[in-house]
Amino acid sequence: MNELALNLDTYPAYVYDLPGLADHVTSIRAALGSTELFYAAKANPDAEILRALAPHIDGIEVSSGGELAHVRETLPDKPLAFGGPGKTPEELRLALTADRIHVESPNELKNLAALGPANILLRANLPLDTPNAALAMSGPFGMDEDALNECARLLAGNRHLTLRGVHAHLASGLDARTMLDLARQIAGWALPWLKTQGVDDPELNVGGGMAVDYASPSSLFDWQVYGAGLASIPSRVRIEPGRAVTAYHGWYVTDVLDVKTTRGETYVILRGGTHHLRTPVTKGHDQPFTCLTATGQESPATLVGQLCTPKDVFARDVLVPPLAPGDIIAFAMAGAYAWNISHHDFLMHPKPTFHYLR
Ligand SMILES: *Cc1c(COP(=O)(O)O)cnc(C)c1O
Repeated sequence: MNELALNLDTYPAYVYDLPGLADHVTSIRAALGSTELFYAAKANPDAEILRALAPHIDGIEVSSGGELAHVRETLPDKPLAFGGPGKTPEELRLALTADRIHVESPNELKNLAALGPANILLRANLPLDTPNAALAMSGPFGMDEDALNECARLLAGNRHLTLRGVHAHLASGLDARTMLDLARQIAGWALPWLKTQGVDDPELNVGGGMAVDYASPSSLFDWQVYGAGLASIPSRVRIEPGRAVTAYHGWYVTDVLDVKTTRGETYVILRGGTHHLRTPVTKGHDQPFTCLTATGQESPATLVGQLCTPKDVFARDVLVPPLAPGDIIAFAMAGAYAWNISHHDFLMHPKPTFHYLR
């Protein structure tokens, strides 16, 4: 990575390590046994990333008509699961071409029933314990037990729609044991319920949300523990992680434009900004980084971008070697929810270039 990052013609740039990503997903795949692995495209839908993942995953989870069209074009043969709240009539029509549709409400089910045959999972919003979650996905997502029962009644008289199972993505940022406990709680509710609905060979999609620790890049989610535990759930089980798959194999590389000390605080001003890498702002963390060109006695500084807002901070009060204009910094863990969630057009600076280790 460093060699490529140091020899770029222009900064800022995104660098993706495709062989590293393939190794990572291979080890996830191995730990999962018979559990199906779908990748949540919204974490990073870059076509090269999708192609690097493709041989190692069972399918892709898409959450909009745009993602569906993009993934279909990039990987025409991969099974798709289509989810997401507020699907438009056009999206529901497109969703009919997916292998599974995650239905979010009784209204959506009625609209879908009018369109044609589909295999569906009902998205459940169950009152389960999600201690230490970074983000609890309650609110508008999925259905409570009353709405699920209403869906069951609607499905009873319908010849187009085939109920295959239950989908639940209840929280994110959980460690393997907590995720496993959650999956067991979901199964404990969903399997008897699906049996009552007469579903043979029930499917459970227990979602994504595996923890990624930006403060400790080397502590990875324990896929072994999770995979071994999921194997004891007596049904077809599918997961759809995003962040924990791609976060580790992307870097945002840029150069120092200015260094200054104002009222006792030292700021390192970098080309680009959080309009390219919004992750540290949305997550409220210091983005991990390495200084590729400088060494020496470290002292505290705040790494900022070129935006005219005090929120444009990559990392606050972190230790850096002596830096000068031209030095190069690579922000790590920029492979998920990074470029694609950022507000690119704010201030109209040039966009980064994209590079791939192959
Ligand atoms: C965002 C999302 C995912 C992926 O979550 P990660 O935290 O990236 O693993 C999976 N399923 C659903 C329904 C989602 O909304």
